[in-house]
Amino acid sequence: MHEPTAALEHALDTAGVTPVLALDPSVVLDRYRAMRDAFGARLLYAVKACPEPAVLRALAAEGAGFDVASHAEIDLCLAAGADPSSLCHGNPVRGPGSASRAHAAGVRRFVTDSAEDVDALAAEAPGARVLVRLLVADTGSATPFFGKFGARPGEAVRLLERAAAAGLDAAGVTFHAGSQQTRPQTYADAVSVALSVAGRAGIARPELDLGGGWPVPYREPVPGPHEFVGAVRSAVDDAVHRGTVDGVDLLLEPGRAVVAEAGVLRTRVLRVSRRPGVDHRRWVYLDVGRYQGLAETEGEAIGYPLRTPARSGPSGPVVLAGPTCDGDDVIYRRTPCALPLDLAAGDVVDLLCAGAYTSSYASVGFNGFGPLPVVIAGAPGGPDRSPGGAADH
Ligand SMILES: *Cc1c(COP(=O)(O)O)cnc(C)c1O
Repeated sequence: MHEPTAALEHALDTAGVTPVLALDPSVVLDRYRAMRDAFGARLLYAVKACPEPAVLRALAAEGAGFDVASHAEIDLCLAAGADPSSLCHGNPVRGPGSASRAHAAGVRRFVTDSAEDVDALAAEAPGARVLVRLLVADTGSATPFFGKFGARPGEAVRLLERAAAAGLDAAGVTFHAGSQQTRPQTYADAVSVALSVAGRAGIARPELDLGGGWPVPYREPVPGPHEFVGAVRSAVDDAVHRGTVDGVDLLLEPGRAVVAEAGVLRTRVLRVSRRPGVDHRRWVYLDVGRYQGLAETEGEAIGYPLRTPARSGPSGPVVLAGPTCDGDDVIYRRTPCALPLDLAAGDVVDLLCAGAYTSSYASVGFNGFGPLPVVIAGAPGGPDRSPGGAADH
């Protein structure tokens, strides 16, 4: 399952630098189609998971819509060939003028979660379609939102009514169940709450946008799309049988699940050291860490599978750390990591399933370690971006 495609292996072997993220758009399309077909829904790819133009172009050509949060993301999607009407502005934290700019670019669907934002949308994007985002329980998520977004059900009903009264098209409801969400029942519970809100607001056939969160089998197996489909479908059927709504138009906003398995992050070992009196394990320092794309290892939330292509001997436990002088730049301290005992400085370590939330999170050059270069499998030429300071050893 974690075996990279031959095209990815070739891209890694010919990249000529580390660190480097290799992406295979054919894997992106494969995951996209599998989700679309399993749910029979319209998919809005969440651009922030991996905004690489080659990924966006492949998805746009396949007819995907996009979940965007900023004007820069709108521009990226339009440049990739997306139809502006297929975009959903999913970020309710819009500054003044942002909705009118999106509206002028042709974006017609917006997510909101506050009265302040509904009023701004009414002024800046008259007549636009609006989905109200609910605050839902996110039990089962590796990277929850801690309540940053979403309205409580009673408030959500009032927001839908306020939107309709202000001349907006109050079309439906949405939520985000927290990313790397492995519990189908969490979606089912959220669907029940969302549809009861739509029903109370008098929307007979709402758009039901299930958001993102769909999980990836990093180190552990996760439920497949069909288990999530089953849970969602029974919650929808239940609401229909109760007469809460007549039916739904289903949307999904996957990010991670579409791109994670399409990427491999190739790194090199800078140093392997023993730390007598500090830790019985070896410390392995890589040329990427928290600030070169591994933001999701904060709190060790995401455990990437590792491989060492050039070493196959017996292995032992290590602490894995990044290259910078920051104390937070430790990748895995608690997550079990075993690497070959003969691993040495200069060796390659690959992080698998690394296509999501990596290149877009890399800093511009903390401690002189620059952004993460990206190569596209099957495309001619070298890295999209010049390598950072870590590549010169
Ligand atoms: C980040 C985000 C997504 C994608 O989440 P994943 O967990 O990567 O699937 C979808 N919708 C919204 C509004 C988001 O912010």
